[in-house]
Amino acid sequence: MHRSMVELAVFFIGDSIMNTRKMTDSIFAVLTTIGLVLGIVASFVLTSLEVEASGAIPAYAGSISVQINNNVPEFDAEEITVTSFEQYGALDKLGRCTTALACVGKDLMPTEERGSIGSVKPTGWNQNKYPGIVNSNPPYLYNRCHLIGYQLTGENANEKNLITGTRYFNIEGMLPYENKVANYVESTGNHVMYRVTPVFSGNNLLCDGVKMEAYSVEDSGKGVCFNVFCYNVQPGVVIDYSDGSNALDENYVADTRNGKQSSVGYIANKNTKKFHYPSCDSVKDMKEKNKVYYEGTREELIDQGYIPCKRCNP
Ligand SMILES: [Zn+2]
Repeated sequence: MHRSMVELAVFFIGDSIMNTRKMTDSIFAVLTTIGLVLGIVASFVLTSLEVEASGAIPAYAGSISVQINNNVPEFDAEEITVTSFEQYGALDKLGRCTTALACVGKDLMPTEERGSIGSVKPTGWNQNKYPGIVNSNPPYLYNRCHLIGYQLTGENANEKNLITGTRYFNIEGMLPYENKVANYVESTGNHVMYRVTPVFSGNNLLCDGVKMEAYSVEDSGKGVCFNVFCYNVQPGVVIDYSDGSNALDENYVADTRNGKQSSVGYIANKNTKKFHYPSCDSVKDMKEKNKVYYEGTREELIDQGYIPCKRCNP
């Protein structure tokens, strides 16, 4: 057990350390190794006790996601594999999702049309609309958020894989990380170890957020390697995490620069090659599988061959 943890730690430190013989680097490597081993042991113990690691996660301070554990994922050496699999933890005694773990390969990715997930009612589901606050149409506060995104493993109405999360958390928090994994697996055919863990405080039914870890296997994390926490928040809405109930934040001043409230700049259509503001009516008719959520500039999209929509003139 200990030997494999050390190997894993060395594995993560990567080639740069292997190639250098400087004393300082060696000391650093040893210290990092010890740190990683302690971290892995700690997370192992925490998991086995079903105690949330929320103590290690900083309070929300305005960024939808933050790196944790220096962005190093905490997979055990024995669980890293190049054989695709997916596994969804049993609901706990309060009916809450636990951990979803996968080795994502191209063979797990969906080939069929996305199915309905509306039959699943995850814990904390206390739905309300916030026009002008939630950037979707209709402006529902909550989405059924996949722990492991549909685009990665093709899971539809799996209650062990769906949590209550705000629109903002889903689109701006989780989706960019999920896209990173999907794009990498699609373009390389390699595998990514991927784990998503919702973190609930006490007996709360709505999670504070999710921990997302990813590690590309064949290239030892060169392609994809992260360990982040995404906060389940919605600017402008005050949320009671005990049951997911919510109310308008009377003190909220929306950031309406450029006429939009979020940093999701554009939504492009893979099929028609047009791009839109998220608020454009054309977006709600678009199939989810054709959507590309893009946070860069319009010039970059045009360089990639996309054309601005004539309805919303982005
Ligand atoms: Zn448009």
